[in-house]
Amino acid sequence: MLTRKEYMKARAKAVEMIRGAGIAITEEETENIEVVDFGLGHLAVEGAQILTFFSTARVSVKVIALFPYQTEPEHWHPAIGDDPGKEETIRVVWGTVRFYLPGEPTASPEAIPPGKESFYTVRHEVLLHPCQQLTIEPGTKHWFKAGPEGAVMYSFSTCARDVMDRFSDPAVVRLPQIVEG
Ligand code: ZN
Repeated sequence: MLTRKEYMKARAKAVEMIRGAGIAITEEETENIEVVDFGLGHLAVEGAQILTFFSTARVSVKVIALFPYQTEPEHWHPAIGDDPGKEETIRVVWGTVRFYLPGEPTASPEAIPPGKESFYTVRHEVLLHPCQQLTIEPGTKHWFKAGPEGAVMYSFSTCARDVMDRFSDPAVVRLPQIVEG
């Protein structure tokens, strides 16, 4: 849960980062930025700022801004009906991001948010710099963490059904909840 004040502050910072990365967005779009703390209550540690440019029944394009060392918790995009699940390509525009996927574990222990080891199970690290990209197949567990400056990246995917995303941490609430204050 986020307070309105925390939300506005994080949103303003995300706008600055997105525009700073050279991605033009309208004032109206700035108001549509989701600040997601995944219901975990420590946005700076586990969280993400997400702007959806469009999301149709087949394609979705978003820009994700992560603050320095901010981590998007481990999750996967499950099959739903005839859809095998979301396939997603992340392309870094600014900053650096460490991606974690199934495979030989290479994550340094300090990459995982303290006390959350059991919810970060895939630990094969891939470091992405600007203009580098990575495709995540449907159903594949993944999580990612920004480097010291933070990061701005595009997410290009098949149909996004964010509410259906599955997270390793049972405490996660995907839809942001904002309280006045
Ligand atoms: Zn994902």
